[in-house]
Amino acid sequence: RPSIVWFRDDLRLADNPALRAAIDRGEPIIALYVLDEESPGIRALGGASRWWLHHSLVSLGERLRERGATLVLRRGPAERIVRELVTDASAGAVFWNRRYGGPERAIDAELKSGLREQGVEVASFAASLLFEPWTVTTGAGTHFSVFTPFWRACLALPSPRSPLPEPREVDGIRRSMASDALRDWDLLPRHPDWAAGLRETWEPGEPAARRRLRAFLEDDLATYDRARDEPAAGATSLLSPRLRWGEVSPYTVWHETVTAGHGGRFLSELGWREFAWHTLFHFPELATKNLRPEFDAFPWPPLEPAHLEAWQRGRTGVPLVDAGMRELWTTGYMHNRVRMVTASFLVKNLLIDWRRGEEWFWDTLVDADEANNPFNWQWVAGSGADAAPYFRIFNPELQAKKFDADGHYVREWAPESLGDDGPEPLVDLGETRTAALAAYEHVKRAA
Ligand code: FAD
Repeated sequence: RPSIVWFRDDLRLADNPALRAAIDRGEPIIALYVLDEESPGIRALGGASRWWLHHSLVSLGERLRERGATLVLRRGPAERIVRELVTDASAGAVFWNRRYGGPERAIDAELKSGLREQGVEVASFAASLLFEPWTVTTGAGTHFSVFTPFWRACLALPSPRSPLPEPREVDGIRRSMASDALRDWDLLPRHPDWAAGLRETWEPGEPAARRRLRAFLEDDLATYDRARDEPAAGATSLLSPRLRWGEVSPYTVWHETVTAGHGGRFLSELGWREFAWHTLFHFPELATKNLRPEFDAFPWPPLEPAHLEAWQRGRTGVPLVDAGMRELWTTGYMHNRVRMVTASFLVKNLLIDWRRGEEWFWDTLVDADEANNPFNWQWVAGSGADAAPYFRIFNPELQAKKFDADGHYVREWAPESLGDDGPEPLVDLGETRTAALAAYEHVKRAA
């Protein structure tokens, strides 16, 4: 009776414990990916994520084929699809790597108990986080709301296990199983085809992810601490979409970084990813609800659609903001420093609810991540875990002077805004700052 390996946010062969367990079981393997747009609570993928997923599945399918297995693609509510496949194939076991979002966990738990009742072996594994949420607690047994003690507690735990080697062969089931054609999933844009910039910027798939990691460790890790905040420096790893889709495992990143040395600061960024996921685990409504409920009292003015659109399109007249929003629109990526500046501008200068910004990033980022995106938006808005205090409002002009001193970044993305005849800012930075601070008084009173 064959084994099913259900791939989800782990589109890789190396360091994939679910795949390893199936290989060790010794029966023929069915590799499965389910596009689930129907189960309750599952967040529909944004456009840039769909683009990435398409190409990453092509790559995974090829790699499995080279090793002897085919990737079966099915679409529908995951629980039903997996059960049907178990029946169709008379499968004896199902293996997967764990997910940590609320609706996903509910599906997995239901499936696990249902299949076990039928006598099917089910096992799940830690593969996407270095430290699973229930393993990191305060002395009082609660979860952390501040990063520094959280990360200290993680580092006091046993070190993350070593990554598993990539299998050379995957003994696929001989019978041909019904599979959707990937192109029928319509994951790629057609009219208009907005993905040209993505194609120029990215190569999805496990081999490219591994090459990127190696290049970063060789060329950039040594200067990371100094240059990571400068958007034009190209000093960060660009691993975020690869980690989002699991094309490279955090265990591999961890161990290769430790071996390369000088990685403390970089590893702590991986720690922020862990912290965001732990926060989502304990607070599954992170994308829609303020983590700090006193922020429910924030008096958002009625939405001005023209302001939101100017921000989305990079037409605010504020050079660093416009540069960032255009980098995002063109490439599906934005440098972290500029994400903070553009997010702060939306929330604190345009007084637009952080959720509108989170949704736009969700749709346009290739690394749009169920935990990292809302976590960081709430961090900027002041409503989240270990958040920047609301009254610390980024000044985009000072940020540009500090982190893009010679204007390389703005010149690349918003050249017309440099020089004396650049556009006027959409709003006055000083006045809007004062208005934001006044609105914040309501939050303070509610606290
Ligand atoms: P590096 O500096 O090389 O960092 C290495 C890895 O650490 C990243 O790939 C990422 O997995 C993790 N990481 C780094 N910074 C953070 C952080 N602040 N929070 C969580 N993980 C972090 N990151 C996402 O992966 N997906 C998102 O949807 C996302 N949305 C964001 C929204 C806002 C408003 C802000 C301010 C930040 C957001 N980030 C998000 C975090 C961060 O900007 C990106 O992870 C980073 O820019 C990715 O580039 P890199 O891989 O070169 O990062």
